[in-house]
Amino acid sequence: MLVILENINIEAEARGVGVAPSTLRYDLNKIKDVLPDVLANQKPGPKPKNKPDKAVAIATQCEESTLCPLCGGKVRKNGTYWVLNWFLMLTLGWLGIKRVRIQRRRCKDCGEEIVSTERARQVEARKAWWNQVNRLICLCRFKLRVSVRMIQILIKFVYARPISIGHIERLTERAGKSAEAALNRLNNCRQAIARFLLYDETYPKMKKQIYSLGVAICEHGLIRSVRCILSKAKDIKAQLRDVVGEHFQPEYFLTDLDLFFNKYMKDAGLKLRHFRDRVHLIRQIIRLFNDAVRDITLDVPKGLALSMRKKQLKLKRKLLHKRLKQYLYMVFKAFSPGYESVCILTLEGVISQLQDSSCIIQAAGIQKLALRLKRFIKKHGDAINKLLELHVEQGTPTTTNALESKNGIFKPFSRSSKFFSNPKRCQSFFAGVALYENFDIKTRGGNKGTSAMQRAKINLDDFGATNFFSTIGLPKPQISLSKITT
Ligand SMILES: [Zn+2]
Repeated sequence: MLVILENINIEAEARGVGVAPSTLRYDLNKIKDVLPDVLANQKPGPKPKNKPDKAVAIATQCEESTLCPLCGGKVRKNGTYWVLNWFLMLTLGWLGIKRVRIQRRRCKDCGEEIVSTERARQVEARKAWWNQVNRLICLCRFKLRVSVRMIQILIKFVYARPISIGHIERLTERAGKSAEAALNRLNNCRQAIARFLLYDETYPKMKKQIYSLGVAICEHGLIRSVRCILSKAKDIKAQLRDVVGEHFQPEYFLTDLDLFFNKYMKDAGLKLRHFRDRVHLIRQIIRLFNDAVRDITLDVPKGLALSMRKKQLKLKRKLLHKRLKQYLYMVFKAFSPGYESVCILTLEGVISQLQDSSCIIQAAGIQKLALRLKRFIKKHGDAINKLLELHVEQGTPTTTNALESKNGIFKPFSRSSKFFSNPKRCQSFFAGVALYENFDIKTRGGNKGTSAMQRAKINLDDFGATNFFSTIGLPKPQISLSKITT
């Protein structure tokens, strides 16, 4: 470096840049003196901490309001302070945390701080940011089945700012409680006439707790109630009693074959006609046929080897199964579309054929089957006739499929949720899921383009909200664009 410095033609260079040669020489000598210090290798110090990028956004408006609105005194500048730039975070969150410097202005006489435009803008942006983040959390929680920790990661990714697990959990609970209250309001809202109350229990995997979720919907597919069932007799009764109301007065109660539902319905003080789900009824008949095949007995001479005996039994079962198949086929036919008016007649025909010795050998098993079928018809015949009649005349449901598909929505939630140690929280969580589902506009299938709330024609004025988020108190942020973009 010294050699290079010596080689500089001082006179020529000084002329080139327009300074006196003596000045240049003097400065060069200074450089020569400190050269060893400048060039010596130094140990690297600690890395600088991530300071906010101050150059990015500094509020640079000069406000001319110089009089205090309270006392009329003079307003003076009173230092500056940094705040999070909420506006940038809301709009360009992924940029990372940015801050903005705000000029503080105080009244000289009373000390009142004058709120600057920038500060007002940031306050509004902060409210909007939290609102939007809370909406995102609720979308993740009640629709997308995202777990609390995953939501935390997502928010951090989108907004480069962490939020706490506690906040997500508290918000979930609060939103769930609002949703629960909203479901309870449903029966006080005017709506299209609903005559069916479909009810079922579903069993989400809830840790070691032995409780289930009772779900009630009407024929429009609107989830009217979800409840954690700890004691069946008590909780199902209460749920059925609470779900009906001024504008929901069903006439029919449609469930699977669970024996107790009828009792609970009566205990709840409801006098509904009880129908059973068509699919479960058919399944029950299939079971009776299978029992007949399984319970077959074999008369064999004594002394026959066990293996032979087994072989013969197997053969006999096979033959009987084949023989009964045609009757079972008639049962399926009886329940198929187009046969509604002759369903029970067809079933009775099956029974009389089973009792006819010219059709089938009257073994004990067959007689028993005919008897059990007879009892089945006696018990369910009238209800089946009415159920199918209503279906043909008014298009009402004959199965609880709509309900089971709702249960299919609840089940995956229970897997990712940590809410199930406490039945109360579990109930409000599922109320949130149910409410979202009620407002969810289907994008495919038979109900494409509509939500259950629309199909049930729930009067939204009575209900007091027009969508899921406004129901739980998180409507879209109301930003005055003029204020926030200046
Ligand atoms: Zn003042």
